[in-house]
Amino acid sequence: MIPTDVGVGRYAPSPSGDLHIGNLRTALLAWLFARHTDRGFVLRMEDLDRVAHGAAERQLDDLRALGIDWEPPVVRQSDRRSFYDNTIETLTARGLTYECWCTRREILEAPAAPHTPAGAYPGTCRNLTGAELAERRAGNRPPALRLRSSVQHMTVTDLLHGEYTGAVDDLVLRRNDGTPAYNLVVVVDDAAQGVDQVVRGDDLLSSTPRQAYLAALLDIAVPTYAHVPMALNREGVRLAKRDGAVTLADLAAAGVTAPVAVSVIAESLGLAARGESVTASDLLTRFDPALLPRQPWVFDPSSVRRSVVRPAPG
Ligand code: GLU
Repeated sequence: MIPTDVGVGRYAPSPSGDLHIGNLRTALLAWLFARHTDRGFVLRMEDLDRVAHGAAERQLDDLRALGIDWEPPVVRQSDRRSFYDNTIETLTARGLTYECWCTRREILEAPAAPHTPAGAYPGTCRNLTGAELAERRAGNRPPALRLRSSVQHMTVTDLLHGEYTGAVDDLVLRRNDGTPAYNLVVVVDDAAQGVDQVVRGDDLLSSTPRQAYLAALLDIAVPTYAHVPMALNREGVRLAKRDGAVTLADLAAAGVTAPVAVSVIAESLGLAARGESVTASDLLTRFDPALLPRQPWVFDPSSVRRSVVRPAPG
């Protein structure tokens, strides 16, 4: 058990496949941020969407192999449906939700509502009349459920990005296939796991104002955020498994063991010299968030292989 006064950090992967070295770097950073501030550290499998067979277990093995530790239990979102439903019911009882029948295409093609930020839901279904509602409910298409938001922007504070202001719209709480939406479950689960520090890839920074708004509505303290730079491939595109030689299993097959992978990640973070061998716990004493690189990390598998294949002596 984690004492409640120390705070908790987390890593929340989606078990849709093996973690690649960019995911592992984010996980190591989340662990360093948490442990360096004497926080607890917890994991959560975000398994409401596509799940690859055995991926959750392989992800845990890979995190362990890097020297990342956590407090049990590992939470699985698929076990928590009733908590999400209860939260949605609470918001509905407060008059804060409405049904929406818009398709993705209709949303894209709808004229932007005045004063609505770019990319925000234009509010098409927000104020349907009783007759319009009855007509849509009689159709075959099940509705999504949206939040009736009363702000258009919110500012959050991020340890790396400073004050960040982004759009808050009538975000989806439950998709029309019945699945609770990411922005809702992340807020409900972080609160349930006692998380007060959220470290994750900076591709999620723009979702953060929506999550902070939802947290405030639910009387949940907004966590401290740190959105860390992502890993890119040599073409400057976000690293993906199809780039090859990016998972721990691929790297091991190329002679790059998990301890070497830790050292490669540490070097990319400015926490180890080139070729220096370090462990995750060595990094705890070296870690300083203020010195973290702010640029994405370009990962080149061939340079990593070259760095481990040392020339024979003599
Ligand atoms: N499950 C998300 C991912 O794997 C991360 C969500 C979060 O950290 O809030 O990208």
